[in-house]
Amino acid sequence: MALPEFPVDGGCSCGAVRYRLKAAPLSVYNCHCKDCQRYSGAAWSISMIVREGDFERVSGETETYDRKADSGNVIVMHFCAACHTWLWNDPPLPGIKVLRAGSLDRMDWTRPVGNIWTDSKTAWVDIDPALVNFTKGAVDRTPLFEAFTRAHQD
Ligand SMILES: [Zn+2]
Ligand SMILES: [Zn+2]
Repeated sequence: MALPEFPVDGGCSCGAVRYRLKAAPLSVYNCHCKDCQRYSGAAWSISMIVREGDFERVSGETETYDRKADSGNVIVMHFCAACHTWLWNDPPLPGIKVLRAGSLDRMDWTRPVGNIWTDSKTAWVDIDPALVNFTKGAVDRTPLFEAFTRAHQD
């Protein structure tokens, strides 16, 4: 699926929080960590790494939760203050945000290029070996960025 024309918009279930993404993300991948299973209610969540400067919150307020990862890093999770849709995370790395792909108005183009935390994937999920996969977290996300760029070259 080709990338859309940017900007694209997204938001929460009740409509209070709206955001705009002004340029293509750096990557899109699945996270199979236990926390993502709990928060999404599914077997994985789809993470979309974007540059902070390409992201704009247009309306609404978020409430945050400081989640302590196994690594000891604190990840600030943002939820709509009214309906509590999980919308994005601020990771400890400066300059990027991690958006939940499912909160986009249209997510057809967000085909994941990889998987992280496959060690904790649920038993019935098959990981495509042709993708960029990590058994734990991706300390260096460069391979995920490169795979996304490759997938969208003309
Ligand atoms: Zn809401
Ligand atoms: Zn996760």
